[in-house]
Amino acid sequence: MPHIKEYIPIVGQSIIDDLHLLAEKLKDKCVQHVNSTAVGGGVAEILNRMIPLLNELGVNTKWDVIKGGEQFFEVTKKFHNALHGRSETIEQNDFDIFLETSKRNIEEMNIYGDIVFIHDPQPIALVDKKTGNKWVWRCHIDVSNPDQKVWDFLMDFIVRYDAAVFSAPSFARRLPIPQFLIAPSIDPFSDKNKDLSLETINVVLEKYGIKQDKPIITQISRFDRLKDPIGVIEVYQQVKRYIDCQLILAGGVATDDPEGAKVLTEVQERAKKDADIHILLLPQNDIEVNALQRASTVIVQKSLKEGFGLTVSEALWKAKPVVASNVGGIPLQIKHKYSGLLCHSNQGAAFAIKQILHDPAYGQKLGENGKENIKNNFLITRHLRDYMLLFLMLYHHGNEVIYL
Ligand code: UDP
Repeated sequence: MPHIKEYIPIVGQSIIDDLHLLAEKLKDKCVQHVNSTAVGGGVAEILNRMIPLLNELGVNTKWDVIKGGEQFFEVTKKFHNALHGRSETIEQNDFDIFLETSKRNIEEMNIYGDIVFIHDPQPIALVDKKTGNKWVWRCHIDVSNPDQKVWDFLMDFIVRYDAAVFSAPSFARRLPIPQFLIAPSIDPFSDKNKDLSLETINVVLEKYGIKQDKPIITQISRFDRLKDPIGVIEVYQQVKRYIDCQLILAGGVATDDPEGAKVLTEVQERAKKDADIHILLLPQNDIEVNALQRASTVIVQKSLKEGFGLTVSEALWKAKPVVASNVGGIPLQIKHKYSGLLCHSNQGAAFAIKQILHDPAYGQKLGENGKENIKNNFLITRHLRDYMLLFLMLYHHGNEVIYL
């Protein structure tokens, strides 16, 4: 892990000085994060980087993971889809399964944080253990149009928190508790984002049998219907009619996502007649993700719904031109035609990719502008500052002045 001072050349001394000042005010607090998976997906990605840095700054920060069986994660995946607005059949039995596993976690999990930071719906019921400490519910999902039944069920828990955090303004809900809008971030020094030598990139390409003899279009994502992998194949096929190219669809599986294997099979079935489509089931290996992103000509993120879309930040940080759906947190990262291209359909995505492949200089400009936006707004140092400000706000009473 890099030390906090190593970020100075990227973000500047004053940003790091601010972080030290804020951390000093939190030095007697313990922050306990709880989520549902230690590997896979954006939440685990961020916590892995954030927790060592907060500890280095002097904020005692820990991370626990709830336990759940297959049935529980099937239910929470349905909740996840329903909150994203997808139609799901959710019955009383599903709520019962959720409550049963929650009960076990409530009994077994040790809650010791002065601030308990709960990520997403899976561990939400732990708030039953609330005593005099502060509880924050951090929602990473696009809940701008949630299934009402699931949202009402969650609201019984949410109202007992001291604050809620959402990733983008459009996700804010009418709530009786304070809510904060804090976008996620990436770490420029993580294995996923750090600079790589050409040699490392080539080793990874060789491992997967990918040649760089034609443009590479890539989407890196869990195999999840909301990431629309089949749509990406259709887009690629439309582009391929005009420009010879290849497609990489690469993803791993998250332990809290039981649907992944099924979606992967569907995608493999759909791709099997085309040797230029590379479906890669990645091990948890950030260098490989990094290398594939760097080797790509265009990065696609054709999600139907998206919380924030860390893969977009990762690609832009590498100054890659990105074609992505105009959903969730993606428009925060891409200003259309300036720092990437936003699309609303398969045809739109294919058109945008063709434009970039025809005009590499345009693609390069989009990538450079995108990188600047990520540097200014979506690096982990900004995220650390926002979280520490939030923690301080939790102890703010009435009209008391806070000196920051
Ligand atoms: N990711 C990964 N390996 C994979 C697929 C995804 O490391 O095979 C990472 C990806 O690089 C990103 C995170 O998982 O850092 C996904 O976050 P995002 O916000 O894009 O989507 P989520 O999975 O949280 O819906």
